[in-house]
Amino acid sequence: MSLLVVGTVAFDALETPFGKVDRTVGGAATYFSVAASCFTDVNLVGVVGDDFTDEHVAIFRDRRIDISGLERAPGKSFFWAGRYGMDPNERVTLATELNVLATFRPKLPDSYRTAKHVFLANIDPTLQRLVLEQIKGKPRLVALDTMNYWIEKTPAELREILKHTHILMINDAETRMLSNEHNLLRAARHIFKLGPKALVIKRGEYGAMMVHDNGVFAVPAFPLEEVHDPTGAGDSFAGGFMGYLATASSMNDAVLRRAMVYGSVMGSFAVERFGLERIRHVTRREIQARARHFQKLTQFRL
Ligand code: AMP
Repeated sequence: MSLLVVGTVAFDALETPFGKVDRTVGGAATYFSVAASCFTDVNLVGVVGDDFTDEHVAIFRDRRIDISGLERAPGKSFFWAGRYGMDPNERVTLATELNVLATFRPKLPDSYRTAKHVFLANIDPTLQRLVLEQIKGKPRLVALDTMNYWIEKTPAELREILKHTHILMINDAETRMLSNEHNLLRAARHIFKLGPKALVIKRGEYGAMMVHDNGVFAVPAFPLEEVHDPTGAGDSFAGGFMGYLATASSMNDAVLRRAMVYGSVMGSFAVERFGLERIRHVTRREIQARARHFQKLTQFRL
């Protein structure tokens, strides 16, 4: 069952205590697609500039990622520069250049329009809506990510798209900002009134928490001795989570819990090396081994 994603495909400049790269392929939709394609076929919607060459496209080529919805426009690709200190949860954005994204109007290839699983990665809510509107019938699952910028600048557009969202996947600061509630459980209850049936709160090195009608489930982040580059952890988490769900025959609590673990597994691979270096080479066997490790990590008797 294929999975559609819309979001940024970018060049990133990254600085962490473990090193520095001036220009590497990144973007929310890129990390998401690479992670999700370990589980299912992915249809990618996005835009790049004419600086995004065949060599860069190779990241998608050898995988189960259809890029017929990746438009190439004249100009430069979206660019983001960020720096992390010793605390991987704290990042400073040094530059955000929209470039070709500023005028992007997504147009879905016909083969994408029957998508049953959709991930609206962090991007302008108007673009998220344009994508959702082009899908025929009702998708089985729509999940959405957003950020402080859209919560503040386009609250009406965000509220509109949230009405059509089943699962909202954001971090703790965004959860508090969107709900005006400090307590995350109360925040979740507020967010359910806006449309979503479940909330997945990404908490960086503290793991992730899922809240829905039938309760709460928390998963830790995989304990790693060295986190080389936290970039893409959230999107890789979403890729593992949605990739797994797209293959599941039903969507009960047990399945959603397993999706949380696969999300955390993929997030942990993403941060082990710079950019996409680790996650693009991860195997099914390594994913399963780490999922089993998670099982051990969280098992206890009373
Ligand atoms: P994360 O999973 O949150 O670490 O996402 C990291 C990716 O998000 C990077 O590869 C960036 O290219 C991309 N990114 C950074 N800022 C933005 C933004 N304002 N909108 C969309 N994508 C962004």
